[in-house]
Amino acid sequence: MTFTEDALKGRVAVITGGGGGIGFGIAKAFAAAGARLVLASRNEERLQGAIKEIEGMGGEAIAVQADVRNYDDVARVVKTAVGTYGTLDVMIANAAGNFVVPAAEMSPNAWKTVIDIDLNGTFYCARAAHPALKDSKFGGRFIAISTTRALEGWPGCAHAGAAKAGIMSLIRTLTGEWGKDGIRCNTIAPGAIGDTEGVKRIYEDAGRREHELSSIPLGEFGKTADIANAAVFLCSDAGAYVAGADIVVDGGRNRGRASPIVTVPNK
Ligand code: NAP
Repeated sequence: MTFTEDALKGRVAVITGGGGGIGFGIAKAFAAAGARLVLASRNEERLQGAIKEIEGMGGEAIAVQADVRNYDDVARVVKTAVGTYGTLDVMIANAAGNFVVPAAEMSPNAWKTVIDIDLNGTFYCARAAHPALKDSKFGGRFIAISTTRALEGWPGCAHAGAAKAGIMSLIRTLTGEWGKDGIRCNTIAPGAIGDTEGVKRIYEDAGRREHELSSIPLGEFGKTADIANAAVFLCSDAGAYVAGADIVVDGGRNRGRASPIVTVPNK
């Protein structure tokens, strides 16, 4: 137990992509901190498995099947949350799609699909949740999961890199527009999170594990719980004055890359 059992007591949170990976890690931490949950994604079976696990740990959660590329689906998720629990205090736009393909070989459809899920889906979550978040007695929270790769360029993932950079811009705009509504908008930028399919596929299966690890100052991959802890902080009373921030949770990878130590040879 990292936070107290009542750190998020009374709050209701929607987590898109909450059935697995980082989204499910956030769901477990939120349930442990007393939040009630709505998990939304396309795969009903995976969602139901996650709900069972949350209930097994004494938490409260429901599943809503939805595709974040479809605004009506996202609006239905919000409506179900408010209809079931009477409020919506937190929206976490976590769902994303990504695959490695060089830009020169990327089909327009591949580009559009990832932009649709990551960038358009995030806007739909924000837009649909706004009225309910504005009414939250805790001060609404909107969190988008980005990546440290968004602003440094991401060879092999031009679509996801551009979408995540767009998300960072969106959060800055929403912070300016929605602060007056009491809504705190932030991104969490994970580095390489070891217990996820993405890292397994992109680094481990591709034989790049050691290379990637060597770029992380703390010397190890992150865990889904590390991202979840940042999310609990932002959504608790302790995060009340944080708005428009990019919370980087990457073991220092970003700094390690940005500031290489230059050794000057002796003359
Ligand atoms: P993941 O395991 O691939 O999970 C993605 C989730 O998104 C799945 O639950 C999936 O559920 C849902 N999803 C995908 N397309 C959807 C759609 N059209 N509509 C609704 N839901 C959809 O991803 P992850 O590794 O946990 O990553 C979670 C977030 O962290 C993402 O935003 C990702 O970009 C970010 N991130 C991850 C890492 C990492 O190391 N893993 C690093 C940086 C950033 P369904 O299949 O059921 O729809």
